[in-house]
Amino acid sequence: MKKDFLKKIKKDVYLRDYAAFKIGGKTRYFLKVKNKEELRKTIEWTNKKKMPFFILGGGSNLLVSDQGFNGLVIKIEFKNFKNRNKEIFTEAGAELNALIKITEKRGLAGLEWAAGIPGVVGGAIRGNAAAFGHSISEMVKEVEVLNSDNLEWQTIKRKNLKFGYKNSVFKEKKNLIIVSAIFEFKKGNKKQIKQKIKENLRYRKQNHPLKFPSAGCIFKNQKLKIKNQKFLKKFPELEKFKQKDEIPAAYLIEQCGLKGVQIGQVKISDKHSNFIINLNKNSRGKQQYIQQRYLEKENKNQGKKTAKAKDVLRLIKLIKRKVKHKFNIELEEEIEYLGKI
Ligand SMILES: Cc1cc2nc3c(=O)[nH]c(=O)nc-3n(C[C@H](O)[C@H](O)[C@H](O)COP(=O)(O)OP(=O)(O)OC[C@H]3O[C@@H](n4cnc5c(N)ncnc54)[C@H](O)[C@@H]3O)c2cc1C
Repeated sequence: MKKDFLKKIKKDVYLRDYAAFKIGGKTRYFLKVKNKEELRKTIEWTNKKKMPFFILGGGSNLLVSDQGFNGLVIKIEFKNFKNRNKEIFTEAGAELNALIKITEKRGLAGLEWAAGIPGVVGGAIRGNAAAFGHSISEMVKEVEVLNSDNLEWQTIKRKNLKFGYKNSVFKEKKNLIIVSAIFEFKKGNKKQIKQKIKENLRYRKQNHPLKFPSAGCIFKNQKLKIKNQKFLKKFPELEKFKQKDEIPAAYLIEQCGLKGVQIGQVKISDKHSNFIINLNKNSRGKQQYIQQRYLEKENKNQGKKTAKAKDVLRLIKLIKRKVKHKFNIELEEEIEYLGKI
């Protein structure tokens, strides 16, 4: 490893280029780390400088402030895999969909439901990524972390990862940075695995607004209260969700008449009410700095504005207020915020 890799730190990098939402300002400093030792050295440096840092995975669950971030964004770029029978060792920066591809090739069952979830393994473990009644926690055997307080490596077994609905120990202990994980699978039928993946991808294409940048579902579904008989008497239309013991946030938002509501260049999706979409399609894909500046100028000339985090926030506040008023339910964000919001 080159000693001077810290010289690769870039200044004033637009975070919207690294966020699926394609929204957000600049970070003061930005560094891609290629292996765990580089990560350790980087954290040693931020500790010494007392500089705030943020670990970036695939950027698919983030709303970045229009003011950006006054610190160092560390993009985890190590992404190796190792196969061991029914287990797969994966580094934190590996795409979740690349892991799924390997399981498909090797006939390992258990992760088909996750096909199409963007982002990397580290991000998926932290948020306990979930869909179709399954979550990543079902396959995780253990996770290796770097403790940013004492710069020590640690292996945490599944039972100590405190997995819950869209939750894990990593949301509570922000000093633990995921560097790798071991996943355990069951032997399965290759054809069936492939078919399941295909069906799930088709479902996403049909039901999610994938043509626009977004951060996926903005709010968590509602786990509580559905068993509460008084609550069901007041809202008998929610009886249909009793079996799953979960009310989709999208349903609540739709019932408040908010589908399609737009502020500036962001909108509550007509296709799926728990998605807020960025209507400025030009901001899709990885833009280089110059291209981005050019687009902004172009948009300005045409009287258009780029999508703003502050408008997403206004929609989030509106949704929360309306759902609270109608159902007395406090929706909780699934997305994470980066920078001063
Ligand atoms: C179109 C679309 C569909 C989606 N569908 C789903 C879905 O079905 N189910 C679902 O659960 N989610 C879904 N999401 C949300 C998102 O893809 C997942 O939450 C994903 O797992 C986030 O991973 P990421 O690497 O992008 O994390 P990021 O957005 O980069 O980061 C999320 C958080 O994890 C932290 N983090 C990242 N890497 C590490 C690490 N190595 N160590 C410690 N902390 C880390 C970050 O600091 C941040 O706090 C969807 C998003 C989109 C855009």
